[in-house]
Amino acid sequence: MAIYTCLDMIADCRAGKPEGWRYLVTYYVPVIRWILAHYAAERASDSRLLERLLGILKNSDHPLFAMPHTSEREFVAALRQEIVSRLEDQAGQQELPASFSFEILSVALKPLTAMERQMVWLEGMQWGVEASAKMLNLESRTIAAARQRADELLRAHLDHWSQGWMGKNGRALARAVQAVPSEQCFEAHAFLDAIDGRITWNRKKDLDFHLLSCWRCVDHFCRMREVDFAFRETRPLTDAEASAFFQLLQIPTAPKKLGWMARLFSRGAERSPLN
Ligand SMILES: [Zn+2]
Repeated sequence: MAIYTCLDMIADCRAGKPEGWRYLVTYYVPVIRWILAHYAAERASDSRLLERLLGILKNSDHPLFAMPHTSEREFVAALRQEIVSRLEDQAGQQELPASFSFEILSVALKPLTAMERQMVWLEGMQWGVEASAKMLNLESRTIAAARQRADELLRAHLDHWSQGWMGKNGRALARAVQAVPSEQCFEAHAFLDAIDGRITWNRKKDLDFHLLSCWRCVDHFCRMREVDFAFRETRPLTDAEASAFFQLLQIPTAPKKLGWMARLFSRGAERSPLN
């Protein structure tokens, strides 16, 4: 029997089939909760927030199911963007100082390597040293040292600097970086190949070189690392946990699978002229 995948789920959700919604709830409610715990910690225990988000997602016409995803992690990256942008709408937008530009950021952080830029950008995404070390497979002290160095570099270039500047302005940076013009950006699968260690040496060299001039790709890479980390940190719901959500979202539960004996007899009963 073919294995049911996230891509099957997307097709079924688009068609409004219960199999799709059941898979979405079972596998991705834990991820949504994990994202809420990080980006809306003060509201993470508010079950209505999760219910509202699930209500928005349980819609066959939701753009999330129309995007050309080619892998599960790409789908979850889009899901993550949807959740974070809804939280952002509710929280109110954070503004960067008028004098800020990504050119200034590039000049200030010019001495940093491609990897150090990710260490610093993850601080903007509110990830502490320990979690960032796990995402990047590095020592915590390496992350701490890069962040301290970046802070000193920023201090020398920014008008309105204060300690931990990246962390304090991360939300606004994440929004603003989407508008930065950029050419020859890398696709999500290139970042995933790099995370999985499947990237060739030449391609990695090109990617690292590009990251030195493109904050959009630094952001994109960090978001893919976060998604990859989410899979390591979460487990699918148990049947009991999932069924509570099925009820809430009015998703029919899966028909009970019959054993081969029961299937044989039920088939016989269907054929019986007495029935
Ligand atoms: Zn780029």
